[in-house]
Amino acid sequence: EASRGCRVSACGAPSHSQPSPRDMANALVDRSRPGDFNQALMELGATVCTPKSPLCRECPVKEHCHAWHRVEKELASASQKLFGKTTLVPDVEDCGTGSCPLCLPAAEPWDSSLGVTNFPRKAAKKQPRVEWTATCVLERRGRLGAPEYLIVQRPSSGLLAGLWEFPSLPLAPGLQEEQQKEVLADHLQAWTRQPVQTQNLCFVGEVVHIFSHIHQTYVVYSLCLDGDVALDAASSPSRWVTEEEFRASAVSTAMKKVLKARETQRGAQSGRAKGSKRKRESKLGAAGSTPTGTQLSLRAFLRAQPPP
Ligand code: SF4
Repeated sequence: EASRGCRVSACGAPSHSQPSPRDMANALVDRSRPGDFNQALMELGATVCTPKSPLCRECPVKEHCHAWHRVEKELASASQKLFGKTTLVPDVEDCGTGSCPLCLPAAEPWDSSLGVTNFPRKAAKKQPRVEWTATCVLERRGRLGAPEYLIVQRPSSGLLAGLWEFPSLPLAPGLQEEQQKEVLADHLQAWTRQPVQTQNLCFVGEVVHIFSHIHQTYVVYSLCLDGDVALDAASSPSRWVTEEEFRASAVSTAMKKVLKARETQRGAQSGRAKGSKRKRESKLGAAGSTPTGTQLSLRAFLRAQPPP
């Protein structure tokens, strides 16, 4: 209900950074029945002092509301001008030219067209932090030949606490692909306890995910391992999962996007492999057939072959 507080007190500071909201509340709330005040304030916000169309003329607290007083003063001033009276009494609410943190900033003064909705002032939006993370979709062939993926658990505090993800590590900005592969190979080695060759890491693509305060780019690589791999359980919880188990695990949306990118790449790779197989087969077929597709006799076939 800080927004209502901003209007009633005509406070030009952003609602979340008003000074001492607790002191204001202590002065207003009846300690024996604090719930009544809270309820009343919530109802006022929901039915009268709404964010976009406040009903000031019907408001039960308009006599105490400095934002409304300001609108009334403007109306009075307009009517004085209309009838030729120009004497205006200075008001403390007009002091927004100095450095007072409670007044509307001089750079964004009162806008008459907005009326009381000049309050609350929104805080300037902070630009999200830009971060890069290297991620590897580490695969092995599971039962029935379907791929299984290694996922590891994030720390229990901080961003995406406790969620599962593909092995990842933050990247310093400006690293080239070869350098990214080197740091990622070192990181993976800690998990798999076996040397990881950078040339085996296959670039999948970049996946962008926007958190509320972070513009995160995942640089995705894939690596297929042969045989069974003993994981280093001492580092952090980790496990192999099928695609189905991955989707049922506590993984972030960003990681689901990463897996999708890998699956798209796999689809493209198998499409290319099928295409080249078909080409080879059609070349072979052409060598043993007539232009009409009729198979040649062995003698005719051998005659048709160019000398070595
Ligand atoms: Fe909100 Fe208007 Fe009431 Fe002030 S007078 S509290 S701005 S509805």
